[in-house]
Amino acid sequence: MKFSNRAMNVKPSATVGVSNRAKAMIRDGIDVVNLGIGEPDFTTPKVISQAAISAIQHGKTSFYTPASGLPELKQAIADRIAADYGVTYAPEQISVANGAKMALYVIMQALVDDGDEVLMPKPSWVSYSQQVSLAGGRPVLVDTNAEFKITLRSLDAAYSDRTKLLVVNSPQNPTGTVYSKSELQAIGQWAVDHHILLIADDIYGKLVYNQTEFYSLIQCGQEIADATILVNGVSKAYSMTGWRIGYVAAVPEIIGKINAILSHSTGNPATVSQYAAIAAFQSDQTDVEKMRRAFEQRLNTIYPLLQQVPGFKLDQKPAGAFYLFPNVAEAIQIVGVQTSSQLVELLLNEAHVAVVDGGAFGMPGYLRLSYAAGLEDLKLAVSRINTFMTRYLKKKVSGGISIETN
Ligand code: PMP
Ligand code: GLU
Repeated sequence: MKFSNRAMNVKPSATVGVSNRAKAMIRDGIDVVNLGIGEPDFTTPKVISQAAISAIQHGKTSFYTPASGLPELKQAIADRIAADYGVTYAPEQISVANGAKMALYVIMQALVDDGDEVLMPKPSWVSYSQQVSLAGGRPVLVDTNAEFKITLRSLDAAYSDRTKLLVVNSPQNPTGTVYSKSELQAIGQWAVDHHILLIADDIYGKLVYNQTEFYSLIQCGQEIADATILVNGVSKAYSMTGWRIGYVAAVPEIIGKINAILSHSTGNPATVSQYAAIAAFQSDQTDVEKMRRAFEQRLNTIYPLLQQVPGFKLDQKPAGAFYLFPNVAEAIQIVGVQTSSQLVELLLNEAHVAVVDGGAFGMPGYLRLSYAAGLEDLKLAVSRINTFMTRYLKKKVSGGISIETN
């Protein structure tokens, strides 16, 4: 079979892949704790599900909507953006897509030509680079500092005359890094000065912890806001990953092209999900705050526990999202493997804990653990990792003689 070059080069998603493997092992009766995927474990708040049920009961969900979403949903999104960010968008500046993932995909399709370069932090979410490649572009990873933040110096080093776009993701997957307003201001101004468009992937914007404040590029003045394509959705903040609703907000020319592409590709996102999303955006946000607090408690519990695991180095306490990203260079040596991806395999097969290799995010030598899981499961997972690492450590210090600890 002769596949397209695009298909030959695409790598399947590692986050989705590891999680599917964990789920298959669980189906086979193996007691795996799945910290692989970044997916809130809460069921969608009742007020949202009820709105969906009511839309079905009132016969509203049997039909197509405009490919870029219901006008009522666009209005609800514009109102939410105004309330959350204090920035005004007209409903015509918004496109609704099947999740933020599709929103990002369609942005790349609309803006990236063959050979165009798209800057993104190293490390960053697995799908950005693949989506850029699928559009014919070249992903360029921008070095980050000890806090996992891109800097003006690293942007200068990554820039070329083919640079078209810069992806900013705060809070950031996989590190939980949150940029301050002045940092965003400087990055935004750099992009404006270099005539580059920005993507602000704010999907984790409502999930910041321990008094951290969240800011977006769209709050950094009109010039930067106009150069920014905002991406957000309901998956993380409202625990609605399965409903598949995300959105793009941008200047009208960009939205026009995105809408044309959506009209030939996905068509509209499921009508029932759009009614649910209206309820999510219009709700009083108390459920969001309850879930945020739960994530904060999990972070504050699990971070110090993971710091004590032999070979795991976690200097930066994450400020947002729901991921921990330890450096495991020492753990790799203790266990006697070559790479973090081999460590991931052993953790899954021996310790029965699913995590993602940092290499999938462009940063081998690290692991990503999602703490979007119940507190008991999280403690169990860390205790299994600890037992696993302690066993290898003892083996190593006793010169390779195996000492069973459980
Ligand atoms: N952006 C980031 C940084 C993510 O981690 C994810 C993963 N869910 C998405 C976008 C896409 O989210 P969804 O498609 O579920 O809205
Ligand atoms: N974004 C989540 C993650 O990073 C969900 C899976 C995916 O779409 O990548 O785990």
